[in-house]
Amino acid sequence: MRILVQKFGGTSVADLTCMRQVQAKVEKALADGYKVVCVLSAMAGETNRLLTLAREWSSRPDPSEQDVLIATGEQVSVALFTMLLRDAGWKARSVLGFQMPMHTDNDYGKARIMNIDSDRLKQMLDEHEVLVAAGFQGCDECQRITTLGRGGSDTSAVALAAALEAERCEIYTDVEGVYTTDPNLCSRARKLDRVAYDEMLEMASMGAKVLQIRSVEFAKKYNVPVLVRSTFSDASGTLVTKEDPSMEEVKVSGIAYDKDQARVTLREVPDRPGVAAAIFGPLADAGILVDMIIQNVSREGRTDMTFTVSRSDLERALEILQSVAKEIEANDLIHDLGVCKVSVIGVGMRNHSGVAGTAFRALTAENINIMMISTSEIKISCVIEEKYLELAVRTLHDAFELDKQSAED
Ligand code: ADP
Ligand code: ASP
Ligand code: MG
Repeated sequence: MRILVQKFGGTSVADLTCMRQVQAKVEKALADGYKVVCVLSAMAGETNRLLTLAREWSSRPDPSEQDVLIATGEQVSVALFTMLLRDAGWKARSVLGFQMPMHTDNDYGKARIMNIDSDRLKQMLDEHEVLVAAGFQGCDECQRITTLGRGGSDTSAVALAAALEAERCEIYTDVEGVYTTDPNLCSRARKLDRVAYDEMLEMASMGAKVLQIRSVEFAKKYNVPVLVRSTFSDASGTLVTKEDPSMEEVKVSGIAYDKDQARVTLREVPDRPGVAAAIFGPLADAGILVDMIIQNVSREGRTDMTFTVSRSDLERALEILQSVAKEIEANDLIHDLGVCKVSVIGVGMRNHSGVAGTAFRALTAENINIMMISTSEIKISCVIEEKYLELAVRTLHDAFELDKQSAED
């Protein structure tokens, strides 16, 4: 059985006209001889609408009930789309997370997939030409509904492709593939033909929401070829795949940005062993991810500790840090929401020097102050003021001449 997984995002299923385009893509795959597992997101804007509702009803929505609520968006999409397919004469059925079943842990709102019953799905595929699967949702040990975090339908799709040993996973969206940077922010962004898993992992981790991070982790782990392409054109898209030597030739392949950043500073904390653990231990215990950390030079036995967290975690982080500040006798706790992170990414950085220098010089030339820096062997990230975000992305894109096809591409 040749299986293809095709995932369609929110803008691709936004209304009947869009769903007709989706139908055409599915029918093309069927004509090519595939059994199709079609994974759908909620209609554009629906998950946000449901989250707003939850916050109107409750000051602290119960996480598991919130998952029951927001998982309904995908249920609507799969039911409506299956009706279209059945009207057109195809043997199709909808499949919700618990019917697959897609088992996850019980970390509501950002659950992790534990396993998928591929036998049951294969049996359903024997009896149908198309399975229309709800993305984003699963169920835990207690049969409670879970969701996989924002953008989680990408992960549902790649996980299903891995479980069913599909030929590939196609991710259909509103742009024609993975670009050198967000094409909606920078008109000079250039579409890439291929991207290495590690590079895509960094791009996604640094904020490029075209693929959810966990979907790329799955793809890499199970070696699933992922093709990102547009629902609304026939362009060839971008293949996310294993690294090969030619990819190393390109120093920088993309610029990513992340607005979901808040900067927190604990002022004048005592500079002694155990202080970092006293600050970051309770944050980690609360499941709050701390990104960049800077500890300043000590003055008279005291130092400032500055770090970034995601904006959605800020309120909880500040609550925890109020009591930590008292305990370690810090002098002040301040935060700043007007920051963002821009990152330069490329697997070729491993073998080339000078990338950081070029990036810093380019930002300096535009008078953009760099507040924090972090590096890995394939990326350089800078925290800057949010008002400079677009300028910084375009400036870095120009500095590395990413609009030009390099000879190795
Ligand atoms: P979907 O609803 O189909 O899942 P998303 O909105 O989650 O779509 O992801 C697609 C969006 O990702 C694009 O519209 C684009 O603005 C954004 N994006 C950010 N960085 C990139 C990039 N490097 N390449 C392509 N798209 C990007
Ligand atoms: N509907 C969910 C969201 O908006 C999942 C997805 O679209 O991938 O985050
Ligand atoms: Mg998405």
